[in-house]
Amino acid sequence: MSLVDSERRVLSGMRPSGRLHLGHYHGVLKSWVKLQHEYECFFCIVDWHALTINYQEVGQISQHVMDIAVDWLAAGVSPSSATLFIQSQVPEHAELHLLLSMISPLSWLERVPSYKEQQDRLPGRELATYGFLGYPLLQAADILLYRAGVVPVGADQLAHIEFAREVARRFNHLYGREPGFELKAEAAIRKLGKKTATLYNNLRRAYQQQGDVEALETARALLKEQQSITIGDKERLFGYLEGGGKVLLPEPRPLLSDAPRLPGLDGGKMSKSGGNAIFLRDSSAEVEEKIRRMPTDPARVHRDDPGNPARCPVWPLHEIYTGAETRVALQQGCTSAGIGCLDCKGPLIEAVQKELQPLQARAADYQANPELLRSILAEGAERARNEARETLTEVRLALGLNYR
Ligand code: ATP
Ligand code: MG
Repeated sequence: MSLVDSERRVLSGMRPSGRLHLGHYHGVLKSWVKLQHEYECFFCIVDWHALTINYQEVGQISQHVMDIAVDWLAAGVSPSSATLFIQSQVPEHAELHLLLSMISPLSWLERVPSYKEQQDRLPGRELATYGFLGYPLLQAADILLYRAGVVPVGADQLAHIEFAREVARRFNHLYGREPGFELKAEAAIRKLGKKTATLYNNLRRAYQQQGDVEALETARALLKEQQSITIGDKERLFGYLEGGGKVLLPEPRPLLSDAPRLPGLDGGKMSKSGGNAIFLRDSSAEVEEKIRRMPTDPARVHRDDPGNPARCPVWPLHEIYTGAETRVALQQGCTSAGIGCLDCKGPLIEAVQKELQPLQARAADYQANPELLRSILAEGAERARNEARETLTEVRLALGLNYR
């Protein structure tokens, strides 16, 4: 692994806290299914993160883990394209978290907005714990362990990625300086060949002396192309470029999702705890029942009252599920009282049922074959562990924790 590959590597995770719903599908899973063909993807079921909030109710975790795995696979995440695994089956997450905890200022953790927000949002839980305070650091360890350069997130997670970047920067700054770093870097430059070496030196000077960011980018691109030097030398030269040491843990960047927030049955954001969700494994009958019961424009009390889609919680779902032509007809029917609310809901019910059918067929296959599911997760953990071990070998070495 090197910085070069890190830009092709994605890490993302989900807390196992129940079955997944259409919000997860539209907001996250559909994008994962695309990403798995474009990047080397690691998708992690973060069961330890579930403990940071739900440490009082642990009985359900393994069921939730299996449910989430089935839902991912049902949505089209493929074990032949991506690595699917359970966080606690790769104990290296805990080791890196511990090591990073030594260098993470408390003030950085207290400053992460979700720390206060979640405590205020979940007043019934005792969240003034060490584990909960440290959960952004565990998340940072999850990412840095794989040297993943790309992390798909929603806007609410940006602060966590920024935190992971700061931790990586601090780590590299403290430990990236192996003995004789400058000499080794200078030797590596010579290995680039005369022309490339001169170019590297000029770009490095332009960045370090004039803060020329373009020069930095050009130099990075130049390094990436180099085939003739070792990965270790490459990492040295990446670090030397910026005036730091070796880049041990590359800084991840967020890949901001442009998926819309899927509204739920009551018009608010669809969420499991909101009681307003359609789950991926809801039967066709359940889907129909849930949508039929949805409230509509509150001003449309009688069938003869004209309605207004702008005030109707069903409408935002039509905007996602229903074609433009049908929507025009529905809008017309609604505002002229030409159709009733159940007529309007019909095409939506069908569209959701149709979307879920292939997912549910796949889910049924995996549910009928728990051995297969277990082996997918075991193989995923094995692959993930191999990568994790490589990072930790370097990290231990940098910290002087190698006893041989
Ligand atoms: P909870 O009610 O416990 O908060 P949730 O249903 O909101 O659960 P989370 O575990 O909070 O689910 O979310 C997991 C991921 O799914 C997050 O990245 C979140 O942004 C995304 N997500 C959840 N609900 C939606 C939604 N309605 N639309 C788009 N994305 C969503
Ligand atoms: Mg949520």
